[in-house]
Formats: sequence, C-alpha cells, structure tokens
Amino acid sequence: MGETIRKVCVIGAGTMGAGIAAQIANAGVPVLLLDILPKDGADRDAVAKNAVARLAKAQPAAFMSPAAIKLVETGNLEDHLDRIATCDWVIEAIIERLDLKQALYARIEAIKRPGTAISSNTSTIPLDRLIEGRGEAFARDFLITHFFNPPRYMRLLEVVGGPATDAALLARVSDFADRALGKTVVRAKDTPGFIANRVGTYWLSVAVNAAMDLGLTVEEADQIGGKPMGVPKTGIFGLIDLVGIDLMPLLARSLTETLPKGDPYFDTVRPLPLVDRMIAEGLTGRKGKGGFYRLDRSGGGKVKQAIDLASGAYRAEARPPRLPGAAERDLAALVALPDKAGAFAWTVLSQVLGYAAALVPEAAADIVAVDTAMRLGYNWKFGPFELIDRLGPGRLAARLRAEGRPVPPLLDLAGDRPFYRVADGERAYLGVDGAYHPIVRPEGVLLLEDVKRASAPLLKNGSAALWDVGDGVACLEFTGKMNALDGDVMALINQTVPLVQSRFKALVVYNEGSNFSAGANLGLALFALNIAAWGEIEKLIAGGQQAYKALKYAPFPVVAAPAGMALGGGCEICLHADAIQAHAETYMGLVEVGVGLIPGWGGCGELIDRIVKAPGTPKGPMPAVAKAFETISTATVSKSAAEAKALHFLRRDDGITMNRDRLLADAKAKALALVPGYAPPPAPEFRLPGAGGRVPLTGAVRDFQKKGLATAYDGVMGGELALVLTGGDADLVDVVTEQQLLTLERAAFMRRVRDPRTIARVETMLETGKPLRN
Ligand code: NAD
Repeated sequence: MGETIRKVCVIGAGTMGAGIAAQIANAGVPVLLLDILPKDGADRDAVAKNAVARLAKAQPAAFMSPAAIKLVETGNLEDHLDRIATCDWVIEAIIERLDLKQALYARIEAIKRPGTAISSNTSTIPLDRLIEGRGEAFARDFLITHFFNPPRYMRLLEVVGGPATDAALLARVSDFADRALGKTVVRAKDTPGFIANRVGTYWLSVAVNAAMDLGLTVEEADQIGGKPMGVPKTGIFGLIDLVGIDLMPLLARSLTETLPKGDPYFDTVRPLPLVDRMIAEGLTGRKGKGGFYRLDRSGGGKVKQAIDLASGAYRAEARPPRLPGAAERDLAALVALPDKAGAFAWTVLSQVLGYAAALVPEAAADIVAVDTAMRLGYNWKFGPFELIDRLGPGRLAARLRAEGRPVPPLLDLAGDRPFYRVADGERAYLGVDGAYHPIVRPEGVLLLEDVKRASAPLLKNGSAALWDVGDGVACLEFTGKMNALDGDVMALINQTVPLVQSRFKALVVYNEGSNFSAGANLGLALFALNIAAWGEIEKLIAGGQQAYKALKYAPFPVVAAPAGMALGGGCEICLHADAIQAHAETYMGLVEVGVGLIPGWGGCGELIDRIVKAPGTPKGPMPAVAKAFETISTATVSKSAAEAKALHFLRRDDGITMNRDRLLADAKAKALALVPGYAPPPAPEFRLPGAGGRVPLTGAVRDFQKKGLATAYDGVMGGELALVLTGGDADLVDVVTEQQLLTLERAAFMRRVRDPRTIARVETMLETGKPLRN
C-alpha cells in the first residue's frame, strides 16, 4: 500500500513542483518542498513558502483540505538539503536546464541514503544525460516521473527507468503514485517527449498547419477537431489558448533539438508569423491578453471574438453550422466528407494516427500505453489506436497506400483486424508480435466496464441496472443521461432489495460515469410541472423517500461509492448508505435550493442525523440544525471528498480512494467488511428545536437579503427549509420521528413546486446549467 514511502521531498516549487507537493499532501503524506534562496528579503524559505501560499488560493484548488496544507514543510536548498535523508523519494522539478539539474544531483548524491528514490520531472531531457557523472548507486535509484499539469487533476504519470534503474525501486514509486497519488502509471521509454507530449505536440502542429492551409476558421477547426474526434470541445486552438501560446515554440524547439533526424515532426515545423506576433504582443492565450479566442470588453460588454488566421484581426466569434449528423458520430463518414471539413479531418487523423502507430514499440511497449497516455494526458475520449479502430485499420491503410504515403508497420501488421477485440467477454489488444493479449488490470483494480463486458445485468431498466461484481456483492449502477435519477431508478431499487437479500451479501452503489449523479432528472420534472401533474410529482417524491429508506433498512450492508458530482438526489442516496467509499475527487452537495426546491428524498433528516452523531458537534438540538441549514440553504458543494467529510456528507470512518480505478474494489471490500453480524441501523429519533429554533435561521437569511446577497425567493426557500429542519411545529420536548420529518420534507417540496418562481429556476438551470437568482 505504498507504506514504503513515508515522506517525500520535492525540489523546485514552481508550477509543477508545488502542485506535485500538494498532491502528495492530499494523500496524507508529509512532504518537504525546497527551492532556491530568494533574490532579496530576510526569509530564506520565501520561494517555497510563497508557492504554498499561492497554491492555497489556486482555482481549481490544488489542496483538497486545510489539513493537507499543513503537511507541506518548506525550506531552501542551501540550509535544508540534508533533510532529504528523512525522505524515501526525492522529486526534482526545477527549471528545464541540464546543467542545473546535474549540479543538483551531484549535491544530492553526496548526502542521500541508498535506496531513496530520486526522480526528475523533466519533459524533454533523456535519462542518461541527467545521470552523467553520477555513480552506479545513484543510477540504480534514479528514474523519470513525468507528471502533467495540474498535478492534482491530471491522472497520467509517465514513468521512465534507465538500464541501471532498480526494478523494485521503480515498482515502489509506481505503486505509491498509483495508490496514494491516484495516478495511472504508464511506462514510457526514454525517448523525446515520452508518449503523450510526443503525440500531442505533433497533433497540434499538424492541425494548426492544416487549418491554415485549408483556409479554415479557428471555430471550424475546433468544431471538426473537437467532439467528433473525441477531443475535449476546446478542440485545437482552444486548447493552445488554455495551455499558453508561448509554449508552442518552446515545445517545438525542445522536440527539434532532441528527436532523431527523419522524424515526421520536422515536416510540421514551419514559420508561423501570426503566432510569433501574438506572443510578442502578449496575446498568449487565456493567461494573457487573449489568444485565438478572446473576450472583448472594450464596449463595456463581453463579446466573444476569434482571430482571423489570414489577417490576424479579431472579429466576432462565428459558430459554424453543424456537421452532417453521421460525420459527428462516425469518423469514417467525417473523413469522407467531400468538403474542406473532410479534408481537414483526414489530414489531421491520417498523420496523427500514423505517427502514433509508428511509436510502438519505439516509445511505448504496446498500444495500450499510447492510448492510456492520450486519454489521461490530453483528455482524449479515445486513444489513437481506438480511433484507428473506429476508422477501420484496413480502410486507413488502404487510403494511405492509395495516396502513396507510408503505412506504419504496426498498421500493416493489423491488416483488417482491429487493434482491440473482445473475446469471451475479455478485451484484448494487438501486440507487436501480431497476437492478441488480454488487457490485465493491476491487482486491486476492478472496473464495472469489465464486468459489463463479461456478464449480463441481473436487473435493468432505462435508468439503472444491477450487476454481480463478485464475492457476493451486487452493484447498483445509474445509466441515464448524466446519471439522472427518476422513477425508474426508484423502481429498480425496489427490485434490488429483495434480490440482494436472497442472493447476495452486500450492495454497492457505483457507476463509471464522469459524475456519480447530478441529481433528479430536471427535464422530466419540468415537464410534469408544466402540465401541473402534481400527483405524479408527489408520487415520485414519496417513491424516492421510500426507496432510499428501503436501502437504508435493508438487511444487508449498502456502500455508496461516489466520484465526481454527487448532487441533490445523488448526494441523498449516499447519505442513506451504511458507509461511503468516495473517490478523492467527489463533489457532493444538496443543491436543491438552486432550483427552488428543498431536498425531498430524505436528505434533510439524514444530514441532521450525521451532524448530530459526528464527534465534536455541540450538544443540544440547535447546533446540528443550524449547521445543516447553513449547508443546504447555501447549496454548498464540497470541492473534494475531504471537504465532504468536513461538511458531514461523509462520516469520519468513511473511506477515500485516491485512484479512480480502485474505487469499486475498495467499496466492495468495505461492504464485505460490514457483513459479519450486520444489522440495519435503528431509526433515528430527532430532538429538534421547533418554532423557536426557526427565528435565528430565518433571521440569518433576512440579513443576507438586506445586504443584497439573497433574493426575496431565497427568503421563502429559507423559511421552508427552516420549517423542515427544525421539525415543524413540534415543541422542544417532542421527539420527531424519521417519518414525520419525511412528511414535512414532502409537504414543503410540494408547496415549492407549485410556485412559478421555482418553475423559472428549473427552466433556467436546464437551459443554462446555472441557477437563476430570482
Ligand atoms: P517553473 O519555472 O514553474 O518552476 C521551476 C522552479 O525551479 C522555480 O520555483 C525556480 O525557483 C526553481 N529553480 C530555478 N533554478 C533553480 C536551481 N538552480 N536550483 C533549484 N531550483 C531552481 O517550472 P515548471 O513548469 O514547474 O517545470 C519544472 C520541471 O517540470 C521542468 O523540468 C519541466 O520541464 C517539467 N514539466 C513541466 C510541465 C508544465 O506543464 N509546466 C509539465 C511536465 C513537466
């Protein structure tokens, strides 16, 4: 479990070093962050200290919790380098200069313990150059660990070992990076740019050239080169704006200096006067005064503009008409389009996919490494070989041949066979030996994706399914768009309970969507509101309450395993589980007030119950209610699982998994651990403050209103929420049952849905994805 690495030192507190240090701290591991002495000032640790202070305020957040910030110890390279003797891994992330890196290693060599791993975060320098002049012992402990920016959020870690690198040490570092830091480790060979940047830089270069040659606008290029190819919608120019236009010539220079002669990359390098001029004028992208796109605020408003690639002048952004339907979904149809869209798609895909195919086995041992690197390092939905499969390997080779272009040997080897195939429910990839090899997941990785390929669901309807994930554990999966929750999900839960009871030991609620669930299906809700189908709505609310309680009181343990967003009803189902095993990147919240509603599926009572029982909550009915009110009335969403714990969505004993791929296995283990002697929880009895307790809550909202921070309708919402959370008109001495609280919740919910202001909020959320402040 990575216990062999108990403390890490990161040298260089720049963009990467500080971000890497933060992620190590996020894993709960102490980290020493060192940098050079400041140019002036009395504090010799100022460079590292300032980096931590900057990161503590960064958006998106680099740290997952205030506790993580405290795990970073700062220092400087003159006074504190000897402290690396206390570290099991030293990561060098100083500026990309061979002489400086070598000088630093010489100093480290003199003081390091044998067996302390030393790695470089270099993007471009070959490993053998880095260790020139060092002894054998140093070489044995040395490797390259190439993180991506930002280190917390980018899942890829490329790891490169040299001929002398100790295999056990490399495995130890990789295992720690995987389990503790949550990274997917891809082994790369020691070739320039490793895998992701090699393909990625080539791709951007080819695409920019092709857009200019074909006379495409930046919007057209991004439309064709974005979604239809499974690339994030920033496309090509949008991505360059995001990473910084000034990085382009730097990347080009480093690759041209290091790539072997004859590499196809050289053919893509050409003078780009427009790019040079943009950089000179500070138009370096989103961090600069603008880029290929910009927001023009000159007229007092905000006008989206794009640059004209021919004249270099900004003009209003013009969204191109949609591509023909088939071309949006089908790569073969896209490259067959007879116009410049088809020509652009073919130029980019044929070159990039051919380039990627030629990198195996030179830069990566197999195609899986290349695909994983591009999916996780560049957020492509499909890796290059998966794209080739979508295009058809035979078809790609035939067209290349027809155009008199070289066909990479690996593509030739595939012939008409796909790079990936599924046989007996198992996915296998084509190796360089021409044979298929099963894709073996690392130990402790269980993916529902694999279970689904190899088996049929136990239950299934339009919005959910139930799977057997082995060892007596079933898995409830949401399957609707955005994993939205509706009556079908509730119906499937009702079928699940008796089935799991008769045939399984435990249940996990888990899925592999980007988000666990964004909550109730608002589209359906709006439809019901518009036709005033109040009875239907009330049935859905009551049905959801009943289904969630059926899970809570089922005679088997239930573990919820959220990742990404778990909002509204998606949060509430977690609150009903016996335990939660959350991915570290879990964004949980009861956000119903944003659409003019209050939590209606039991979330109010469950949150109060958790807060009441949390160690450290002051006694008495008011503190827990006030805390729940604060969280729900402001629609607070946690920015990490650690923060979800602080907000009491997670209990203290709930688990956090750093690596997304290990979440299901961890949740399953947690569920099985609860099986011996399992008894469902007793129904809580609430001691709530009643009408008297409402006064301070509604008073707080009124204060917000006076300051202009809350609207009149926010005031109404606050009143409804306060009514439920304080237990309605119960007296302080009364015990409020869970059922009574559910009735209050339902009644408040039904009052709100009839209000046109709620309908307006729902409509706005559906149209814009943002709450309406009416
Ligand atoms: P940066 O410029 O943001 O930070 C470099 C840090 O090194 C600074 O804090 C600086 O004070 C420190 N430094 C400078 N000279 C030093 C010296 N002589 N000794 C010790 N420290 C010194 O750079 P960065 O972007 O964080 O890049 C760091 C490393 O990571 C480089 O090797 C780079 O190639 C690599 N890398 C960068 C990215 C990226 O996206 N920025 C991604 C992957 C890898």
